[in-house]
Amino acid sequence: MLQEPEPGDGDEEAPVRLGEVAADASVMLDTLLELQTRDTAIDRLTHRRDTLPERAALESVQAELTAAAAQLAEAAARRDEVAREEQRFDDEARSLEDKAAEVERRMYSGEVSSPRELQALQADVDQLRRHRRGLEDRELEVMERREAIDAEVETLRARVGELESEAERLGVALGEVEGEIDEELGGERAARDEMAATLDAALLDDYERCRERARGVGAARLSGNTCQGCHLSIPSVEAERIRKSPPGTVAHCDNCGCILVPSAAPAAGSAATE
Ligand SMILES: [Zn+2]
Repeated sequence: MLQEPEPGDGDEEAPVRLGEVAADASVMLDTLLELQTRDTAIDRLTHRRDTLPERAALESVQAELTAAAAQLAEAAARRDEVAREEQRFDDEARSLEDKAAEVERRMYSGEVSSPRELQALQADVDQLRRHRRGLEDRELEVMERREAIDAEVETLRARVGELESEAERLGVALGEVEGEIDEELGGERAARDEMAATLDAALLDDYERCRERARGVGAARLSGNTCQGCHLSIPSVEAERIRKSPPGTVAHCDNCGCILVPSAAPAAGSAATE
């Protein structure tokens, strides 16, 4: 079983042994490297999924859509307010015309015969119609304002429609890319879990801790004096010691802390076969 390295021990880490059967232990470290390959692929896919340009584009269009929809609602409210004002002038003008028509009806009904009274009624009619024309002029001004806002509302409505289509298109595109990545992730995770199940639990824990510390690299090949995790060299004496350790010895890189796996070539007289 894997032994925890003694903490607080200033000297080099005591070599820890993995399992009793050297060949199995060696295989286990090689499997650990394959697990690292899978985890790296999973990390890369997850990062890609999190930073998809399609998602950024969708979020940007959604933000534009929210802003345009708010502008549309504001313009429509302004238009409705002006339309109500227009309607009020229209109603008032109609009411004045009805009154003028009513006075005219009396004038021509024969009920009124006094010229003075007829003159007074005619003056009423003229006054009502002047007032009506005044209201109609104001109604016309309001109508022009309302028409300008109508055009604004139409432009905004068209913009909102375009953005909605664009958001839908991007949503579908994002869903497709996410689906592809999720399928790939599913495959990688299944393969990863299958490998992890064959590994010593303490070794797996050690590996996960190293991965957290070293930005995703928990295990790497020791190639010559170079750790393939951080691509830095370790002292050749240390590299030699690791290579000559009994197979399955768990060693760590002094630089990045990851588990170093020497190549499976025969070392120190023990033939580690696969
Ligand atoms: Zn390293």
